[in-house]
Amino acid sequence: MAYGERGRRVPVVDLNDRRALERHRPADPATVEEARGLKEAALLDFGLTESAVASWLYAKCHHQIPTTAVDTAAVVASGDGTCLLLYNPGFFVRLGLDGVKFVLFHEARHLVHRHLFTDPELREDPVFELACEVSINHVALIRLGREQLPLLEGRPTGVDPREVYAAYRADLTAHGLEPVPYETFIETDMRVYGELKRMHRPPVPARRLCVHLQDGAVPADQETVDGVASSALLNALLAARRGHAGAERELLELMGRSEEGNPRAAKLWGNLGAGALRGETARTRTVDWWQRWLVDVLGSKLRDGERLVYPKKRGALLAALGQDPMLARRGPVRDKVLVIAYDTSGSMPAHVIDWLTELVGRIDGVEAHWLSFDAVVMPFAPGERVYGGGGTSFHVVADYVEGRTEVNGRRLDVVPDAVVVLTDGLAPPITPAEPEKWIWLITEGGSEWPETHNPAMDCHRVTTGSR
Ligand SMILES: [Zn+2]
Repeated sequence: MAYGERGRRVPVVDLNDRRALERHRPADPATVEEARGLKEAALLDFGLTESAVASWLYAKCHHQIPTTAVDTAAVVASGDGTCLLLYNPGFFVRLGLDGVKFVLFHEARHLVHRHLFTDPELREDPVFELACEVSINHVALIRLGREQLPLLEGRPTGVDPREVYAAYRADLTAHGLEPVPYETFIETDMRVYGELKRMHRPPVPARRLCVHLQDGAVPADQETVDGVASSALLNALLAARRGHAGAERELLELMGRSEEGNPRAAKLWGNLGAGALRGETARTRTVDWWQRWLVDVLGSKLRDGERLVYPKKRGALLAALGQDPMLARRGPVRDKVLVIAYDTSGSMPAHVIDWLTELVGRIDGVEAHWLSFDAVVMPFAPGERVYGGGGTSFHVVADYVEGRTEVNGRRLDVVPDAVVVLTDGLAPPITPAEPEKWIWLITEGGSEWPETHNPAMDCHRVTTGSR
């Protein structure tokens, strides 16, 4: 989805192949360094103020590669579940920071579009392609507070929504039709498309604007796009729900633009629970916030190496939330190890335990170890009754999980990839050896100390309502 791409150059190397990309005619080190600095600065600005969605999306592009194999910039979604950001260092340097921000925002939005609009007929229509460019650039101009498109050698580059509108107006007027005002024309993504389709001669982009849209030129695996984009949207939504006003505005605007005339987007937003931002209550099935959060956090902690089966795992996780299941593929790989520890000293909500048990049971390729604990650790099998009621100690859990103590004469002889603790949090804090692996689910009325602990750990309150 390269921004402002000219011509139809087919990439010279396999855009999935990181080594080849890095080796291909490397730019001079000073240019690479400068371009990297611009990219970092742009992403920092997104995170702080301008686009929570783009910020999360690039946080999920684990490899960001300066390469001359693309002329501009592109986000590649590989079949292994990972996204790569490729950018031409010379291009970034010539654009400068403002231009780089515009281009990165544009590319991120393309990926989100590809997640929200999947109708094959639309995808094949060059007018829709143009409509995407118009919509995306309109939003970029507004969100980034710009008067004009980024300049390259002193000239604006990319599709200017106002120029396209002027051509639309002229075409309709010439054929005795009534054009709608610009504000109406640009209101939603499908509106732009619908209005362009009213033209006698809709403008077809003379050249492909995005390498991405050339047949197979830039890998765009739909499962990967869906996984990465939905995760970015989920995280942006959680940020909005936690009071990030910028994220809230961005999501409201994106929702409003994308769902009209697009049942898929409406359904995706509904599954995400995004209606809550508008004060709507979820209509049908209720999926609680903490559940979405846990699925996302678990998804990232159980992620395989980049060549392995992450999409499969992610698919199982999403299926557990009632989203469209994805195709299983690849394998076999080493099972991931997950420890789930229930604090039995207080009252554990039964539906939470049931949900967790079912979720974990549906994750492919995971070896789960179940523990209950109060002042001591007691392994159990799912479905078995758990006992408890004494005082609480997180130390006993850490000692067992980290292999220092035995229970019933046995040590835990595996190293967990993730440890989920369901507790009220009311016991002396601990610092596990690998805090990044620990996920704390805090029951109502409990203490969320792991969130403010040093180091902070993933922590979320379990609620019984959808909030
Ligand atoms: Zn584009």
